[in-house]
Amino acid sequence: MSDTTHLREIALGHIRAQSAAIHALGERLRSNPETGFFETGTSRILAEALRSLGAEVETGLAITGLKASVGPLGAPEIILLADMDALPTAGVPGGVAHSCGHNAQMTVMFAVFSALVRADAPEREGFRLSFLASPAEEYAELDRRMEFRAEGRIRYLSGKQELLWLGAFDKALAVLKYHSMSDSPQRRAVVNGTLNGFMAKKAIFIGKSAHSGAHPHDGINALNAATIALQAIHSQRETFKDEDHVRVHPIMREGGTTVNTVPERAILETYVRGADNDAVRDAARKVDRALAAGAIAVGASVRIIDTPGYQAFDPSPELGEIVGRAAMEILPEKDIDFHDRSSASDDIGDVACLFPTCQLAWSGFSGTIHAADFMPSDLDRAYIEPALALAAAAIDLGANGAALAKAAHKTFKPKFTKEAYLAALDAQFADRTIFWEPPESAAPNSRTGTARDGSKGAPQGRAPSDGPSA
Ligand SMILES: [Zn+2]
Ligand SMILES: [Zn+2]
Repeated sequence: MSDTTHLREIALGHIRAQSAAIHALGERLRSNPETGFFETGTSRILAEALRSLGAEVETGLAITGLKASVGPLGAPEIILLADMDALPTAGVPGGVAHSCGHNAQMTVMFAVFSALVRADAPEREGFRLSFLASPAEEYAELDRRMEFRAEGRIRYLSGKQELLWLGAFDKALAVLKYHSMSDSPQRRAVVNGTLNGFMAKKAIFIGKSAHSGAHPHDGINALNAATIALQAIHSQRETFKDEDHVRVHPIMREGGTTVNTVPERAILETYVRGADNDAVRDAARKVDRALAAGAIAVGASVRIIDTPGYQAFDPSPELGEIVGRAAMEILPEKDIDFHDRSSASDDIGDVACLFPTCQLAWSGFSGTIHAADFMPSDLDRAYIEPALALAAAAIDLGANGAALAKAAHKTFKPKFTKEAYLAALDAQFADRTIFWEPPESAAPNSRTGTARDGSKGAPQGRAPSDGPSA
């Protein structure tokens, strides 16, 4: 085992000495918030900073992503992964902010990368170190992303999914990630918290417009269909099991055009989250039933468009131990939560299905995550402390030809092969329309019905010809 004390001294000393520049980079990125797949200015800032270290930088990955690597070609690779995107956020100038703290992710991982370059750790110890900036973690602005997909600019809807497909992770032995969190009196850091998986649904209720005052009986009220569907979704909640951590949280995107016209169209969007794929599938079936119920009740139809969300995040315990040890050099053990179970989601879950992955979360932010008031409360805790912990962990993992990273990789059991993972994502894109009319002659309590396509029985679904189903 080589002694890494000297390397650590140089790397951690560099981070401390550069703290003012690191703060400045974090705040520069924070003042340039850009949403997913539009992080062009962010990409330029990062590329310039990485090139100044003498690293080769590959840009334009998944549109705005980039990767810089140092160390011997072909050596075992450790990836420092950071999200790039900001989030549409109500109540901020311009409507977009780094309200999830991804500016801090980029800053911390850049600080770690530059510290290990300064210590020449990859060359000395024989490992490849990569900084990988990934666009579009937040699952937002889906209409634009579906357009990008239709145009062939992306195949998947999130940055890490796209980078997985493109092969940016293919050689990774270990992936390290950092995420900011709000200050709390209970804990100051989280190592290897788990996350829910999810899928997304968009439901377009189609009714028929008519004059709301003069002829409402000639219309079919799509807003009523959507509100019944919302109520029907709420009626499923008692069936969700606690251990499945199900979250279904629809919003209404559209519910009519003018007050004096019966709404012809209403749109709901929701995620269906759960602790694993079975929990998500089970809840998704119930949501489909609820959406169909709303449409059927008023004689409308509903087009349900499914898109793949993210896999539940199951981090690597071996990497967690190494990162946890490094975190405990900065914080007392009682301030670090090793057992967090969040119902939020992140496409880091997808990465962790294929490669050993660890996420460190660190405080230093005030306000509420995803809200206008989320911002650094302490620049050292937001940008410097997590960088010190992760730089120490990366040196430990990379030492001796990445011996510890190799050991973690050896015991790792991927949930999918890459091909099976991509096939599972592809299979989740679905588009169908559901409607049902009871037959004119049916007596009350009749068990049969006629769908508009003429077949007998239960509500029918069909894929419309114009849909982006795959
Ligand atoms: Zn977020
Ligand atoms: Zn985030």
